[in-house]
Amino acid sequence: MQTSSKNPNEGKKVLLRISNLKQYFPLKKKGLFVKANDGITLDIYEGETFGLVGESGCGKSTLGRTLLQLYRQTDGRSMYYGRMLDELAPRYVEKTLKQIDKLRTQWKALEKTAADAQAEYDAMPDGEEKYKKADALSKAKKDANDAMLDMANLIGGFLSVADIKEPVALLLKEYGLAKSRRDVREKRKAEQLNLDDVLYADQKSGKSSGKAAKYEAKVAGYDRQIAELDEQITAVRVQLDELRKPYAGDAEFAKYEALRDEGIDLARLEYPEIRVLRSDLQLIFQDPYSSLNPRMTVGNIIGEGLLAHGFFKKNDERMQDYIVKTMEDAGLASYFLHRYPHQFSGGQRQRIGIARSLAVKPKFVVCDEAVSALDVSIQSQIINLLYDLKQQSNLTYLFITHDLSVVKYISDRIGVMYLGNMVELAPTQELFDNPKHPYTEALMAAIPTTDMDSNKELRILEGDIPSPVNPPKGCKFHTRCAHCTEICKHATPEWVEIAPNHFVACHHPLMGEE
Ligand code: SF4
Repeated sequence: MQTSSKNPNEGKKVLLRISNLKQYFPLKKKGLFVKANDGITLDIYEGETFGLVGESGCGKSTLGRTLLQLYRQTDGRSMYYGRMLDELAPRYVEKTLKQIDKLRTQWKALEKTAADAQAEYDAMPDGEEKYKKADALSKAKKDANDAMLDMANLIGGFLSVADIKEPVALLLKEYGLAKSRRDVREKRKAEQLNLDDVLYADQKSGKSSGKAAKYEAKVAGYDRQIAELDEQITAVRVQLDELRKPYAGDAEFAKYEALRDEGIDLARLEYPEIRVLRSDLQLIFQDPYSSLNPRMTVGNIIGEGLLAHGFFKKNDERMQDYIVKTMEDAGLASYFLHRYPHQFSGGQRQRIGIARSLAVKPKFVVCDEAVSALDVSIQSQIINLLYDLKQQSNLTYLFITHDLSVVKYISDRIGVMYLGNMVELAPTQELFDNPKHPYTEALMAAIPTTDMDSNKELRILEGDIPSPVNPPKGCKFHTRCAHCTEICKHATPEWVEIAPNHFVACHHPLMGEE
């Protein structure tokens, strides 16, 4: 049997780091929730296609939308590394730094609660009562850890220092400078658009209007301001490094310093800040029929995002050229520009959806059942298009589908979800060669084959997915699993790396051909 569990992301940078992500939707009846995502931990790498599979209702679309911040996550951490923290300078940085004394006191109290819960737990005899306490203990530990991380991500080793007035003052100064730099960059962007407009008009008319100099001077002025701010930020960082020096070799300091994180904590952003990131994080919808505004032309549909994200000013003639180029990249003829969605076939509409998403130069694209509504022959065209566009722009895809045979051809790695949890994760070939989770195996057994020589028996997974409001205890798959034993009904299986880069959550992982 082939065991090719080579990491396809070796050497690549993490783009999104998701830890213990939970997305619960409250029901009308008080205290009840649909647990759509119930503790997902995952790294997504820059430039990879991560396939996410599972039956409908397993929470895969919710995960995609939560990562795009279309839903505010209930719990957990989603770090985004497509832009650096100081580039966005979000408000949570300032808030945390200003309240650091209070937050540290709260954290210490949470640590004490967790330590007390641990002592109580340890002192209990084994049995059901102790088992019931386990959840409360892990929640107490998690609360303390979250409170610590919120600060350590920003102040690193200084979290362990008694008097942090000086470093915090410097960190606030650094934040203020980064915020100013962000604002100046925005102004510069606006003036650059003005300048480009004038230069374009001059070029078209073949003579200089003399207006360019004014905007050039403005842009140059902003460039100078940015350079000055860069210098000041560097100077503050040097001062901070000086303050760190006395703690060299201090294990406690080093422990927290290692947690310093330049990424953006998506769950802590405010709405206007999320809006800034919207162009980075895009969605290609499942249904090309309903996701396009029937009253807008293709040109307007694609142009809408470009205007909203400041790529062009309204009535900028260059925008049309850009839209046409984007359409051509997506395999649409330029003369479609003024047509309406109803004039297109399903495959063409999906190309419009793709052009709309990719026009704003995203870094991370969630393709949510992007080919499911299309004929099989069109599916492969769209998959090839997505693949080519990804290669051109080093895009990162989260490719969501219920169809394993579709993700096989596009994904570097595949994650299998069941009832709100990831149950298996592996490089694509490894997953197909060596499925370890009975659910993955069942999904694979249900893939129809066109190979006439194959003696594969097509097996359909029986039973319905249980309700995510009240999921089964222990392994959530136990009500449908052919390998279920007593332990599966009581204990949640841990997420373990069973082979290099191959993770599974199962008490009895499959061990080769049985
Ligand atoms: S833990 Fe048990 S019930 Fe769950 S998938 Fe594994 S064998 Fe089946």
